[in-house]
Amino acid sequence: AMQKSTKDPQPKPQEKPSNPDRIDDKWRPPVTVTEPGDSAQTYVVGKKLGKGGFAVCFEGRTQSTGEVFALKVVKAKVEQKKMMEKFRTEMQIHAKMVHPNIVEFYRAFSLEGHTYVVLELCDNGSLTDMVKARSCLSLPEVRRFTIQICGGVKYMHKRNVIHRDLKMGNIFLDSNMNIKIGDFGLAAVLADDQDRRTTLCGTPNYIAPEILSKSGVRGHDSKVDVWAIGIICYAMLMGTPPFQSKTQQEIYSKLKNLDYEWKLDSKNFIPDEAKEFVAACLNLVATDRPEMDDLVEYSFFKNGTIADVLERANMRAKPIWL
Ligand code: ADP
Repeated sequence: AMQKSTKDPQPKPQEKPSNPDRIDDKWRPPVTVTEPGDSAQTYVVGKKLGKGGFAVCFEGRTQSTGEVFALKVVKAKVEQKKMMEKFRTEMQIHAKMVHPNIVEFYRAFSLEGHTYVVLELCDNGSLTDMVKARSCLSLPEVRRFTIQICGGVKYMHKRNVIHRDLKMGNIFLDSNMNIKIGDFGLAAVLADDQDRRTTLCGTPNYIAPEILSKSGVRGHDSKVDVWAIGIICYAMLMGTPPFQSKTQQEIYSKLKNLDYEWKLDSKNFIPDEAKEFVAACLNLVATDRPEMDDLVEYSFFKNGTIADVLERANMRAKPIWL
């Protein structure tokens, strides 16, 4: 298999034809961006925060109040209609999510061929950045982050939204090192209770009790997020995801056989309670994975300290109190 190596430079691949939907690397918004319409807020564009598949993110400060935000910019004239529709769905779902552990969506507007999304700024980067810099996190930190992730996901599920793309790169950290789940690009809304009652079940006389129960997301589709939480927790503890391999095929075959181990050479001592929690999430049978409500009840979170104060410096160094 071909692997990228930074040591031996390979001949440059042929320039790929640039994707017209993508913003090119050198592009920057104007120095100030003014939202059209009555609410006309002007943002002073600051440093580039990062780049994703289709979006580029910049820091933006409102001229009137000096508040800082993340400005996510996407080309508004996306060639394929489908992409734009997807993006609209993403924004619609995201806009409804208001929770301390979910990146807040403030507004979106179009300007000169681009769509701007004003988001809560997460100025400490992503969990990927932190785990890379630290190689793995301490147990009190893992407990704190996992609990916060569970809080955000539980909230989504209660509102019939499944994230479906939970991973360390989509989980950001704010200035207080609190978890903010972002990127609702693959999120899905399940039909709400009302819809289901009428479309699926017909006559109320025949409805089974579990269909009426108010437990939020129906079915077990939402269990994909529980699986992802298991992967994230393992990766924070060990520094790499459990089924890490060179090829996608290998990852899939390991995954299907639950072929992962807790290597002893890890920097961390991993208590059985942590292994028990991860194993519960990584159940091949979706229906057997724990409910969101049960996750934080695992003894991993009850027997042991939870980091209650973290700071920016902990992106690169273990807290001294640990
Ligand atoms: P895409 O949807 O195209 O993948 P992302 O939402 O992942 O784009 O954003 C691209 C990059 O911008 C991220 O990897 C991250 O570095 C940065 N970013 C995204 N949202 C925020 C935010 N709210 N605060 C700070 N940086 C962000």
